[in-house]
Amino acid sequence: MLQTIQPLIDLANTDLDLQTNIFSRSHLERQIETARSVVDQHQKLFEQKYNELDLLTSEGKIVKNNIEIQEQLITRLDAQVPKIRNEKEFAASKTQLEEARKMLGLLEDKLLELDMKKEDLEQEIETINSELTESNSTFQQETSGLLKKQEKAEKKIAKLEPRRNRLLKKLPQNIKRFYERCQESGISMPVCAIQDKSCSGCHMVLLPQLVNELMANPNSHKNCPNCSRILYYPEVEEEVES
Ligand SMILES: [Zn+2]
Repeated sequence: MLQTIQPLIDLANTDLDLQTNIFSRSHLERQIETARSVVDQHQKLFEQKYNELDLLTSEGKIVKNNIEIQEQLITRLDAQVPKIRNEKEFAASKTQLEEARKMLGLLEDKLLELDMKKEDLEQEIETINSELTESNSTFQQETSGLLKKQEKAEKKIAKLEPRRNRLLKKLPQNIKRFYERCQESGISMPVCAIQDKSCSGCHMVLLPQLVNELMANPNSHKNCPNCSRILYYPEVEEEVES
């Protein structure tokens, strides 16, 4: 039997406070992650489009280079025309020129197409960039509050954790073991007050005898017959009995 139930209640309250703060810390972490993921998405898209633009630019360079080669070829072929001596040479030169001009036309079409694609892409990138800037500033705004809250929760946890360990040490070994076993098996609050003649942990209505026993002995405790949590009768402020 405990001398007094108070250390156990203190521990339970500290644990409740601690759990609330741990929950809020991980909740905040998730919120910050979510806010960051929007920025990350924009950043990723921006990089992707920028790479596409790079590819288009280098493709354009190659096409321009080929256009130059074709133009030089045409100039060379044109210069050869006056030197042609027979029908056969003339026909060959004509075919070569036609092919070179055709190729030049195709390359110029290709360059135009690339330029248009580039223009569209540049516009798209501009839009994505402004979205990125916007989401970045939203992230900064949102998270400055969240980060402050997270820091606060962190500080509370740092204070509550040693307190709970101190309180736990004060308990008799058997109670301490019971408390820890409960928490290990998922019962986060192994100590419960009786509320409305019920266990406030599992909400089962208790036998009047049990309630009366604990009411008569506010310093004692009993296990809930349903969930085995430690039950105690909450102190009532200055109750005057007549
Ligand atoms: Zn119970």
